[in-house]
Amino acid sequence: MYSDVLLYIDGKWTPSADGKADPVINPANENKLGTVAHASIADLDQALAAAERGFEIWRNVSAFDRSKLMRKAADLLRERAESIARIMTLEQGKPLAQSRMEVLGAADTIDWFAEEARRTYGRIVPSRTAGVDQLVYKRPVGPVAAFTPWNFPINQAVRKISSALATGCSIIVKGPEETPGSPAELIRAFADAGLPAGVLNLVYGTPAEISEYLIPHPVIRKISFTGSTAVGKQLAALAGLHMKRATMELGGHAPVIVAADADIDEAASLMTTHKFRNAGQVCVSPTRFLIEEPVYEHFVHRFTRLTSELKVGDGLEDGVQMGPLANARRVQAMEDFVQDAVSCGAELATGGKRIGNAGYFFEPTVLTNVPKHARAMNEEPFGPLALMVPVKDMDDALREANRLNYGLAAYGFAKSAKTIDRISDGIETGMITINHLGLALPEVPFGGIRDSGHGTEGGADALEGYLETRFVTRRG
Ligand code: NAD
Repeated sequence: MYSDVLLYIDGKWTPSADGKADPVINPANENKLGTVAHASIADLDQALAAAERGFEIWRNVSAFDRSKLMRKAADLLRERAESIARIMTLEQGKPLAQSRMEVLGAADTIDWFAEEARRTYGRIVPSRTAGVDQLVYKRPVGPVAAFTPWNFPINQAVRKISSALATGCSIIVKGPEETPGSPAELIRAFADAGLPAGVLNLVYGTPAEISEYLIPHPVIRKISFTGSTAVGKQLAALAGLHMKRATMELGGHAPVIVAADADIDEAASLMTTHKFRNAGQVCVSPTRFLIEEPVYEHFVHRFTRLTSELKVGDGLEDGVQMGPLANARRVQAMEDFVQDAVSCGAELATGGKRIGNAGYFFEPTVLTNVPKHARAMNEEPFGPLALMVPVKDMDDALREANRLNYGLAAYGFAKSAKTIDRISDGIETGMITINHLGLALPEVPFGGIRDSGHGTEGGADALEGYLETRFVTRRG
């Protein structure tokens, strides 16, 4: 069911030039699933040369034809959704239903960007002088280097690939070494749809070695990275040094404001499902729950009960709602966060421990009355931890929501229009969803501000990051 994963360079699936490969582990039982080819510098040179040639081909394919080919890839992905979802669950751990949704969601993303490919309009600016035409063109920026993480192995890659292909760029994707099989299937859908060789290339290896080689390389004109703020800052600095455009989708620490007049049961139920989706390994995962004092006990009680009822297990088993964490690092991180929070005075309402000793399972965890100085209140937990904090009023809630430098996503629950306005205007994040879950659709912006990065990976704005503006003024 799980095949060894190869590199995809210049239209061919290939082992690395020196034959090096790394093991891929199933996080549900720690068994080896297979291997992933480990690119050497010689492989990267080939990918760069292929991307350079691919760009010359693809930029000259009409937007109409690019769009048709992308839609074909989306259809192939839909046809193969079941087998790709199984690969994803095996290597990443999330429940099969969530993997299936990710694959089908990726097909929707490709379709949306394929439609948008045909709408990369320039414009004509009225001239001050008779007989002069002032023309603004949008042109593809050039070969892209994209770095994508393991938490959503397909979803994080498909946004970058779709934006690049829609605008006429070629792309080299450095995929996630721990979950390489499912993104390779995404690339296969494009290859099988007939994408010309060199336009889309896939490599795996040592992340720092690859980014340090690709980002400064003259062939690469744009960088897109999804991952931690710490790594993002290093890569953005390197991109800046070489004057490369960059889109950075980094960490978050999402506040959830629950106002006293909110529908508490509905808020608790929506947030429990959302918090523990993908075992909390989500950049927009709800993390700091800021609950007005009159409803604090009610919300915490309800949320804790629903959390303790979640079924944790191997993502391939029926009825499992939360799988293992994706790697051993996350288990260690959760243990450290919980221990630190409790030593700072937080109370453990449920969870808090590793489950068993085979596989990276961790209990869905609720910590209450968590003090601000606890590490988890300041660093992104990126795991199944929900932190409950009582707040006196909306001023207190907004102050805490905006205390950290992260600025990715935020959630709000309230009934009064005035409170809804205060939450939408007062929170400093790139995305806010109030009284429902409405983030991450292909057609709406997806991105953060401040330490959570810059640029957006959804909606029409996403294409701007892959286009450059050229101005031509001409007479006669
Ligand atoms: P990490 O910071 O080492 O790696 C995060 C991602 O960046 C991985 O995909 C990794 O391959 C890549 N990476 C790391 N160093 C790189 C480099 N020098 N050049 C290019 N890519 C590089 O940490 P990790 O243990 O894999 O993940 C944990 C942390 O990463 C989490 O705490 C979370 O903040 C962050 N993360 C965020 C997202 C997201 O969706 N924004 C996704 C995955 C991980």
